[in-house]
Amino acid sequence: MNIEKLLAIDKFLVDDEAKHITLQKEICTSCQLKPCRFACPAGLYTLKDGEITFDPAGCLECGTCRVICPQKGAINWQYPRGGFGIIYRYG
Ligand code: SF4
Ligand code: SF4
Repeated sequence: MNIEKLLAIDKFLVDDEAKHITLQKEICTSCQLKPCRFACPAGLYTLKDGEITFDPAGCLECGTCRVICPQKGAINWQYPRGGFGIIYRYG
């Protein structure tokens, strides 16, 4: 089963008013390897036109991106507000 099918099992309520993860993209521009692209199990960090983009829908709240990011201050990470975030339906 691929990532998209696995993620489709779960349900996500995205908080558009207070996203739980935000990036300081000007810091990301100086990040050479951009390991978030490979470390996020949900594949939410992608490179588009040379710039890193992030989509909070599908976040598993595992914290891997916060730990793996080598650039201080690039990621502002917090758990979603109550009522938002992931709802696991299996496992
Ligand atoms: S690893 Fe951190 S600094 Fe590098 S691109 Fe990803 S979020 Fe930005
Ligand atoms: S917390 Fe985990 S699933 Fe969410 S964006 Fe970071 S690495 Fe990806």
